[in-house]
Amino acid sequence: MSEIETNATERQARYNPAEIEPKWQARWDADPALYAAEGHDSGKPKFYCLEMLPYPSGQLHMGHVRNYAIGDALARYMWMRGYNVLHPMGWDAFGLPAENAALKNNTPPREWTLQNIAAMKKQMRRMGLSYDWSTEVTTCLPDYYRWNQWFFVKMFEKGLAYRKKSKVNWCPDCQTVLANEQVINGRCWRHEDTLVELRDLTQWFLRITKYADELLDGLDKLEGWPEKVRTMQRNWIGRSEGALVDFAVDGDPGKKATAGPSTSLRSAQDDTYNARDDIRNAQDDTCDVITVFTTRVDTIFGATSVQLAPEHAVAKAFATEDAALAEKIEALLAEQKKAREADDFGAIEKHGVNTGRFAVNPFNGERVPIWVGNYILADYGTGAIMSVPGHDERDFEFALKYGLEVRRVIAPESGAEVPELPFTAEGDAVLINSREWDGLSCVEAQQKMAAFAEKNGFGSATVTYRLKDWGVSRQRYWGTPIPMVYCENGHAGLEPGGVVALPESALPVLLPAQVEITQEGGSPLGRVAEFLNTMCPVCGGPARRETDTMDTFVDSSWYFYRYTDAKNETAPFESDKANYWFPMDQYIGGVEHAILHLIYSRFWTKVMRDLGMIKSDEPAERLFTQGMVIKDGAKMSKSKGNVVSPDDMIARYGADATRMYSLFAAPPDRDLEWQEEGVAGISRFLGRVYRLTTKYAELTRESGVARAANRTEIDQALLRRLHQTIAKMTLDFSGRWHFNTSIAAIMSLVNEIVAAEVAIDEGKASPAAVAEIVRNLVLMLAPFAPFFAAELWEQIGGEGIVFRTAWPVVDEELAREDEIEIPVQVNGKLVNVIKVAAGSEEEAIKVAALADEKVMARIVGKTVVKVIVVPGKLVNLVVK
Ligand SMILES: [Zn+2]
Ligand SMILES: [Zn+2]
Repeated sequence: MSEIETNATERQARYNPAEIEPKWQARWDADPALYAAEGHDSGKPKFYCLEMLPYPSGQLHMGHVRNYAIGDALARYMWMRGYNVLHPMGWDAFGLPAENAALKNNTPPREWTLQNIAAMKKQMRRMGLSYDWSTEVTTCLPDYYRWNQWFFVKMFEKGLAYRKKSKVNWCPDCQTVLANEQVINGRCWRHEDTLVELRDLTQWFLRITKYADELLDGLDKLEGWPEKVRTMQRNWIGRSEGALVDFAVDGDPGKKATAGPSTSLRSAQDDTYNARDDIRNAQDDTCDVITVFTTRVDTIFGATSVQLAPEHAVAKAFATEDAALAEKIEALLAEQKKAREADDFGAIEKHGVNTGRFAVNPFNGERVPIWVGNYILADYGTGAIMSVPGHDERDFEFALKYGLEVRRVIAPESGAEVPELPFTAEGDAVLINSREWDGLSCVEAQQKMAAFAEKNGFGSATVTYRLKDWGVSRQRYWGTPIPMVYCENGHAGLEPGGVVALPESALPVLLPAQVEITQEGGSPLGRVAEFLNTMCPVCGGPARRETDTMDTFVDSSWYFYRYTDAKNETAPFESDKANYWFPMDQYIGGVEHAILHLIYSRFWTKVMRDLGMIKSDEPAERLFTQGMVIKDGAKMSKSKGNVVSPDDMIARYGADATRMYSLFAAPPDRDLEWQEEGVAGISRFLGRVYRLTTKYAELTRESGVARAANRTEIDQALLRRLHQTIAKMTLDFSGRWHFNTSIAAIMSLVNEIVAAEVAIDEGKASPAAVAEIVRNLVLMLAPFAPFFAAELWEQIGGEGIVFRTAWPVVDEELAREDEIEIPVQVNGKLVNVIKVAAGSEEEAIKVAALADEKVMARIVGKTVVKVIVVPGKLVNLVVK
């Protein structure tokens, strides 16, 4: 007793993060092995915890802080649970901002980028994040990007990387091609006010569509991914089954179309149905056939027109012969572009123009008029449809407007009343007015008619995807050079100017150090003669290098595999190492990456698997997408002037309080409204814990871990709350990650300790109980406030490193409440709340409920039909 009293007055230390945090940071920085993963033979289960790597802009923002605080808490917790943890960090270091900065400040992109990395790494260390820097990956350095090139050559050899001329999205500000995903509402993703143009360019593509079905089907198995991300990916892949049917253009056969976007129109089926490529490509240059895509070939006898996109090759060919038509088609295209730019395409007012030409329905030989419609997109399906007004809402609307024939070819199976047109149902419906196909069900007809078309050479069953092949060419300097050359004179088997992949011995193709960046006139690499002019690796003759660089999404598609073997100089990574760590156990990042990075990296994983490099099909077992950090109701941004700098917060309140606040202020999957007052509150809370812990530090040091044989009332109450808190936190860490409620639980535990402080100091608690509470309090705070926990662990004489100390184990016996409250309902309405002994049997709860006075008053004179007891939760009496 006297011992405790002495301690109470002995220390009145104040929490001072400005002193504690740099002290521990220096110790941790001096010990690079501290956060290193162990070998595969550690005997521990592995846990790969990863936060998405940042772009090195030079400054961490609060979104980063939140993302890393979540990952760091999890990594530290898993260490405490005895796992072998891999927790790496790196830099997504290629990309346009470095070129912009170079232009603005006259600093070379490499220098600018490496300076930024150094600055951000310093911030990360200051935050006390537990990264294993020995596995750091920096994507703009040749020791990394050489493997992008290596993969590119492998993909080229497998036919997964190829060139084609295509319509590309071109941002006049970026002076480069954008992926479809980088075009938002017709505008550049980086330049909100810049309209994206369409240009014809020969580009490199990665054949992601080859994996479309696997990427889609795999989503069903990714149960550890948020449903919203899986839905976004499903929509992005956009699979639809249907048929391709060729309608011959009537009259003037064999007329050639001068030019057309037909390759891009056909890319959907080209890439999936290679067998038909030859036929299709042969037709690409002609305008005597229109291939329509339909999901309802069973309705083809009801087709009363063919509708083309304004950019369709056949429409263009007609336009070249008819100036008046050309003008009208131009107008349709303008309307379409306008609607797309406004992101309002679904609501476009449908307009069309009759070309005066006809196409022949191959199923019945009927001539139908060819129209051009503003609502038909060149990049969906084939850019041509058959219009069946009797059985399609959109076609019906169009036909009414322009007086086209509406025909009934589908009817309810039997007996049902003949419905109004358009009749769009497929189930329980059969074909009518369709000659030999009459009577077939819609589904059966879809299969049989597609097969018939295929057999007779005018069509096939097909699947289309919204997903297009991944255009990876960029006309930029600061990216991975594409490792291809063009042999000027050609050699055996290669025409002059043909493309040759560089052999592995010629890699890496290094980015030249000095390049003038103007952001005008195409690829900067094309202006560097020493880079451009080279030798053909096959014939030794003169050759030109490819001057495009790779989309930076290539860099982030496989970086997390490199972490497992970051220093490997002979391969991207060793298979054994990747197979040990993959799939990642937890990947954490923003939901904005749901369709870009997270589809590309799934694709890359499947390619690596097919190259025999890895075993897993998917990169991440579980994905967590954290919410945004907002201020005054809006996303933090310089233009809104609502940016809160992590450095300021750390200077004022310390890294621990800043991190902990970002975990406390909202559940991690929700948006977080930043309030400085909240950080101050966390800081005061840590101050309270610091005061309590230091006050009882000596007692804790001197008290063993054994519990006192006889517990006092105070012991009992505090230990119960302690173990309830441990149980709650352990549950929260198991996947829910509601760290906000975990931290709230620690706060209420601390409040109880403070409330019992006088009693403790009067000797009404046993030293062993106080020590147990103090020790576990520090351990529970370790994942959230690592500097703080390390300091206090040392002060209370904890052995070893706090976050390598075993996570507290719940004592169920101690955690159990003596009495619990159970609501009692009569016919579903709450009547009273009764108290029963914790852990009571069902029968005992039932008896207690029936004996309650209020309950008895309610059921008197009635018959109890049923008593439903949910032990520990609820009693419901059903009475009549
Ligand atoms: Zn742009
Ligand atoms: Zn050659």
